[in-house]
Amino acid sequence: MEEILDRISRGEGTVDDAEALMSLSDPADIERLFEEARRVRDAQFGNRVFTYGFVYFSTYCKNNCTFCYYRRANGDIPRYRKSVEEVVQLAGNLKDAGINLADLTMGEDPVMYADGYKRLLETISAVRDEVGISIMASPGALPREMFKAVREAGADWYACYQETYNREIFESLRVNQSYDDRLGQKTWAMEAGLLAEDGMMIGLGENIRDRAETIVRMGNLGCQQIRAMTFVPQEGTPMQDNVPYGPTEELKAIAVMRVMFPDRLIPCSLDVEGIAGLKTRLAAGANVITSIVPPNRNLAGVAQHELDIENGNRSVEHVFEVLEDLGYRHARSSEYVEFLDSRRPRGDA
Ligand code: SF4
Repeated sequence: MEEILDRISRGEGTVDDAEALMSLSDPADIERLFEEARRVRDAQFGNRVFTYGFVYFSTYCKNNCTFCYYRRANGDIPRYRKSVEEVVQLAGNLKDAGINLADLTMGEDPVMYADGYKRLLETISAVRDEVGISIMASPGALPREMFKAVREAGADWYACYQETYNREIFESLRVNQSYDDRLGQKTWAMEAGLLAEDGMMIGLGENIRDRAETIVRMGNLGCQQIRAMTFVPQEGTPMQDNVPYGPTEELKAIAVMRVMFPDRLIPCSLDVEGIAGLKTRLAAGANVITSIVPPNRNLAGVAQHELDIENGNRSVEHVFEVLEDLGYRHARSSEYVEFLDSRRPRGDA
């Protein structure tokens, strides 16, 4: 264990090392891994934590990913599409509350994609012009030539999760979608001057080796933000009866990402365990809180479409209080902008 951590700290970690750490089962060893992850995180970022709000602005989608509640074939569920004005208002609420970034997420909604992605681009540029908060765009897979337009509309980030780097599993989950095209998304985004986020899901049929490979490949791709989330079975989907993992595998993945890629942003999502999962994820080395949702706005989450949203437990004030109780502080938005400027790809496209 110490040998592996030592090798990793010299930047010489391998997939075998990641696999060994992801295989840990003794609670004392796992705690040692978390301790190292905290040490590495604190050395890079101190006790400041960045905060992202979540605006899921269209839950329509043309795709049929087997794990997703919003897959097209899940026909009877209520869906919505927010107007540009509504998105501006929601992003404004996040900014006023001191949240650092608005994550504008949608399914692959044909209405948003029509006329050269007109409404998607209008939504991003309205948030930039009228709100002025940092923006992450999570609009699904785009043609290569669109990334420049997304950057010019005002997005800072482009997020697109590969979920797994096991091609076979990917193809069984993301039905009729191209593995290589989705992989290319992140690179094309960075070429266009956007920061990029990649993510893995735990519990989709992958083994420990797959998880280790996914962590190493996500990090090596150069994405400035990388994440792991536990799969939560969704009603009405082909995977609704899958037995979900407990949180430990996700926590180990967060810690392994942290020790192998110390300078990356690594989120803890409130979307899996709600506010209850915040403490454990921070203790595993995360340094961003994502999926903060304003309550009473009829907005959905991704992994759990209702968890803690309407009761306000994912609200800004509550998250900030919990953070302070844990000895962290939420970063000011000016600090976040400064951080982004120091990491932004130059962009050659
Ligand atoms: S994961 Fe995304 S692309 Fe796939 S069905 Fe759900 S919303 Fe659509």
